[in-house]
Amino acid sequence: MDDMVCPDCGAHVKYGHNGCRKLWDEFSVRVLSDTRLVPLRDMAFDTYCMQHLERYCTSPKSYMAHLTRLCCWLEFKGDGRVLDGIRRSLDGTVRLPIPKPPAPHWTLTVADIIAVKDTEPCMKLIRQWAEDVWQTYADQHLPAREWIRMNRN
Ligand SMILES: [Zn+2]
Repeated sequence: MDDMVCPDCGAHVKYGHNGCRKLWDEFSVRVLSDTRLVPLRDMAFDTYCMQHLERYCTSPKSYMAHLTRLCCWLEFKGDGRVLDGIRRSLDGTVRLPIPKPPAPHWTLTVADIIAVKDTEPCMKLIRQWAEDVWQTYADQHLPAREWIRMNRN
C-alpha cells in the first residue's frame, strides 16, 4: 500500500489515512482562527465524510445523513429547517437500504483546501470541493432530495 496517498480521497499526504485525518484536524484548527470559514465548516465536513466512507459512513444512516446534508448545503442554502428535518428523520431506528456508493472520482481533497492560505480563495475552493463531491454522487441526487422533501416541515 502506498503510504503517501490517502486510500479514500487520494490526497497526497504522508501516512495515508492518518495523515489525511491530520489535514482535516489542521483545517478545523484553522477555522477557529479564521472565522470567515466558520459558515463553511459543516459543509466541508460532510464533503470530507462523503470522501471517507469507511470512517464516517459506516452505516446506511450515517451515509444518508452526510449525503442529504451535503445536498442541503448546496441546494437548500443550508436551511436550518432542512437540517433539522434530516436530523429528526434519522433519529432512532431507521430502515434504509445498503447504499451503493459511486466509484470514487475526486478532483479535490482536503489537501488542496489546506494549501490555499488566503481566506477568499479558500472559501471558493471549499464550495468547489463540495460541488465536485456532490456531482460524484449524481445518481443519488434524486433519492437525497426525496428524503429531504419527505422530512422537511
Ligand atoms: Zn483522505
